[in-house]
Amino acid sequence: MLSVKPVSLMYLRRKFMKQSREGVYLKKEMSVNNSQHLDSTVLAYVMKTLNDRYDYGLKLVLLSIDEGITGYRDDSLESVKRNEKDYGIPLKILSYEDLYNWTMDKIVKEVGLKNNCTFCGVFRRQALDRGAALLGVDKLVTGHNADDIAETVIMNETISPPVILDIIHSGECMRLKKEIKLPPQGLCKKCGYISSQEICKACVMLEGLNTGVPELGIKKSSKVKDKIEKLSLQCSGGSCNSGGCTA
Ligand SMILES: [Zn+2]
Repeated sequence: MLSVKPVSLMYLRRKFMKQSREGVYLKKEMSVNNSQHLDSTVLAYVMKTLNDRYDYGLKLVLLSIDEGITGYRDDSLESVKRNEKDYGIPLKILSYEDLYNWTMDKIVKEVGLKNNCTFCGVFRRQALDRGAALLGVDKLVTGHNADDIAETVIMNETISPPVILDIIHSGECMRLKKEIKLPPQGLCKKCGYISSQEICKACVMLEGLNTGVPELGIKKSSKVKDKIEKLSLQCSGGSCNSGGCTA
């Protein structure tokens, strides 16, 4: 059983109270880079502990994405299922295969090892949005390990949880300068999920995979630009044959 030191729990409780007054739902994402899934498991434990201890009355749901990587994800999905039992929180597993009709194994065969991480990252980001919509939740919580920061701190200072949390907190307090404008957030014309472009990156990449042009969405050539514009026009005309088309 994991244990969280009181100072950490108090800090997290303050963050929790500050950032969410109405309800928080738990997203469970297994980190590709974390073989022991510690970040997500700690997050699940902390959220459940806070919810039980302070009687927040939240409905927590675990969401896990199966990218379809043989020999990797199968093991970690077993860990997620154990979390479901240990914490008594319902679990939803969504796969790339169901969502996109592609697994990462198939994508690697198509695009090779060089750019496959781009596909995985873009698809996973949207898979989480889709999972949230499917579960009807309005908040996602993600766990990210601070191993690199922690190692740096531990190498230079006495081991002290507040020091690590202070560093994390300072990162969270970073703000963009007022003069920097972010692209407006809208909805993808094709799939209807959040995007800052007319056609989201996931749809562009999917189109590339389905039409034998996997570099679509990775390279920025005029040929690629033409294809994206064509896709956008198809959606505007309602002829893209996408189930999620918003045109
Ligand atoms: Zn889209």
